[in-house]
Amino acid sequence: MVHVVVIGAGVIGLSAALVAQSRGMTVTVVDREGPAAGASAGNAGAFAFTDILPLASPGIMRKAPRWLLDPLGPLSVPPAYALRIAPWMYRFWRACSPRAVAASTAAQTALMDLSKAELEPFLALSGTFDMLAKRGNLQVYEGEAEFRASFDGWAARERHGIEFHHMTAAEMAGVQPGLAPRFTHGTFTPGWYSIADPKLYVLALAEAFRENGGVMRIAEVTGVVPTPDGAEVVMGGERISADRVVVAAGAFSHRIAQSLGEAIPLETERGYNTTLPPDALDLRTQVTFGGHGFVISRLSTGIRVGGAVELGGLDLPPNYKRSEAMLRKAKTFLPDLRTTGGVQWMGFRPSLPDSLPAIGRAKASRNVVYAFGHGHLGLTQSAGSARLVADLLADAPPAIDLTPFSPQRF
Ligand SMILES: Cc1cc2nc3c(=O)[nH]c(=O)nc-3n(C[C@H](O)[C@H](O)[C@H](O)COP(=O)(O)OP(=O)(O)OC[C@H]3O[C@@H](n4cnc5c(N)ncnc54)[C@H](O)[C@@H]3O)c2cc1C
Repeated sequence: MVHVVVIGAGVIGLSAALVAQSRGMTVTVVDREGPAAGASAGNAGAFAFTDILPLASPGIMRKAPRWLLDPLGPLSVPPAYALRIAPWMYRFWRACSPRAVAASTAAQTALMDLSKAELEPFLALSGTFDMLAKRGNLQVYEGEAEFRASFDGWAARERHGIEFHHMTAAEMAGVQPGLAPRFTHGTFTPGWYSIADPKLYVLALAEAFRENGGVMRIAEVTGVVPTPDGAEVVMGGERISADRVVVAAGAFSHRIAQSLGEAIPLETERGYNTTLPPDALDLRTQVTFGGHGFVISRLSTGIRVGGAVELGGLDLPPNYKRSEAMLRKAKTFLPDLRTTGGVQWMGFRPSLPDSLPAIGRAKASRNVVYAFGHGHLGLTQSAGSARLVADLLADAPPAIDLTPFSPQRF
């Protein structure tokens, strides 16, 4: 039987582990902290299948200068990290050309379609179907100009068959009452789903994995060494042998790729939020404040307010003033929101400069499969990515063309 070692027990690693098990493989998952220790625990819980446009786009380049002026705004670069992030930002800027955006939109759409098709069978497989909610997303705009500026994006989504409904303020009140009058227009996308709570979901995946006979090890992986018919995973003084290895260590994956001699330009877009008690607001859908770079989401465990991008690397301490700034804004946008009793969180989005993940084999060995760099969309794309990883592990033709996701594309 094929033995697979998956490095990383986030939503990507555990989803891949479960699909590999369903194809008859024996799987060990190694995580330095255990399941749901990283970004997968604290995200907004959205399956944002309608989000097919890459973040790297002319739209973000228009907004970025204004956003960067506000040190606690939607996009920030701490001075201590500005030089380190410069090469990544240059690649990001190059990915904003119309040709690059068209190519990454097509690739993103293929992965989204696959992920949406795979999601419900995967939830059934992992016994987590009752955690899925289909409440949609309401994107809100302040004034006619912001609303009109969104039309190109909606036209692109229309071309890909995505359902959406533009709304007046009065119509929006039927979907989400209590929005401040500054929001004059909105667009509702029903095909945007949510998970009850992302941490509980990943813990449930870990439980299902163990019930299927999976082994979970708590250890820090320091490298992977290819062998003639597999690879060894190095954990301190110990090594475990595998026929195949999956690197799914989120924002830390490039460090493992480095041990295989590959330099992959993975950076982190740090994100922040605050989770309030469940009765903080009568929230009926996810609401996206696109002009302010954050969302408000209903989870089974609370109301989560968060987002923002801080290009600050893996080592700087968190700056929770960002969580506070978003919470203050949320209170003015939804005046009924009760902002007391919250828990703050910061997480590392694993991000590649063209907004697409790396899904493919390592250069040094076809027995090592990379699955990382999902940026803002790791939960959304987890079931599709798991299917693709399992295809690679089984030497089966991948369900979609993997060329745009090649880890060697940079
Ligand atoms: C504020 C915020 C909101 C978000 N909202 C959404 C959303 O609504 N929808 C969505 O789809 N996505 C969202 N995301 C993005 C999503 O959370 C990530 O893309 C996703 O969680 C990445 O999953 P992962 O499994 O690759 O990484 P992680 O969840 O970070 O898991 C990686 C794991 O690897 C382990 N690890 C790392 N290095 C090593 C090592 N050397 N040895 C052993 N183990 C190691 C870590 O302990 C960790 O458990 C959001 C992110 C943030 C920050």
